[in-house]
Amino acid sequence: FLMSYEPAMRLSKMRVVIESNMVGVRMMYELLDTKQTMLESPDAVPLVVGPGAVELSDVCFAYGDNEQVLRSVNMAFQPGKTTALVGPSGGGKSTLLNLLLRLYDPTEGNVLIDGQDIKAATFSSLRANIAFVGQDTFLFAGTVMDNLLLAREGATQDEAIAAAKVAHAHEFIEKLAQGYDTVIGENGSFLSGGQRQRLSIARAVLRQAPILLLDEATSALDSHSEVLVRDALESITRGVTTIVIAHRLSTVMNADEICYLENGQIVERGKIDDLLTTGGKFKQLYDVQFKGK
Ligand code: ADP
Ligand code: MG
Repeated sequence: FLMSYEPAMRLSKMRVVIESNMVGVRMMYELLDTKQTMLESPDAVPLVVGPGAVELSDVCFAYGDNEQVLRSVNMAFQPGKTTALVGPSGGGKSTLLNLLLRLYDPTEGNVLIDGQDIKAATFSSLRANIAFVGQDTFLFAGTVMDNLLLAREGATQDEAIAAAKVAHAHEFIEKLAQGYDTVIGENGSFLSGGQRQRLSIARAVLRQAPILLLDEATSALDSHSEVLVRDALESITRGVTTIVIAHRLSTVMNADEICYLENGQIVERGKIDDLLTTGGKFKQLYDVQFKGK
């Protein structure tokens, strides 16, 4: 009996360890709206964030043994301003955001926030300072309110409702059977893509982070949702260091700076008017992808 019992004990202990690690992973996933795979440095220190200057210094990156996806990228994103990342599909835009979220570490070079290497930062301070809104919104089986409050420790219900209003989520939440107390299934199955995205935006509002990363892809949205999501996004980028993978002309037009990424390198950057006047890669892309949309 003992002989068979013992391994079972050990196994169940192992399970507890694994599960408690999973809780950590899930928390990261939930708080960043995305999946966390890196480990925190044992001597990690909290980021001290002022204006929210984001800098990539000689960053190279490859997924495993694959070809390099980012090649010696040097870029200082202006604090409090919006930079639109544009360029052909596969150029490395999403990868760049992945590195800023620390879903991966650069194979060479550093990612700095207000001069501090994010590799040395605690996860809690990273997630407190960076909000991410992407195509997939992670929602857990709980009430709408619980899903919102996850955005920031200590956030109040009133703050969550105010954030939902900014994100144009309040309107549809109020129409749900139990309003904010409505239990949404794992991944919010009965909500539309636009509704889930607006919940994600509400979380970003509630987070009050000085750095905002957006993957704007709107393919999942109907045109009504798209207008609401666009309004919501415009209101949350003010005064926040925003890096947005731009799919819309309006985003490109409103950005303080354009950064054109191709084949893992920044080949052009500048103000839209200057880039259009000079003529070049961005001008070509603009004529094809953005103009008339
Ligand atoms: P973009 O967002 O500009 O379209 P991505 O950063 O998504 O570009 O992709 C850049 C390159 O990295 C592409 O060649 C893509 O196939 C590759 N890539 C993206 N994600 C992964 C991954 N998880 N594993 C391996 N390769 C990937
Ligand atoms: Mg992408």
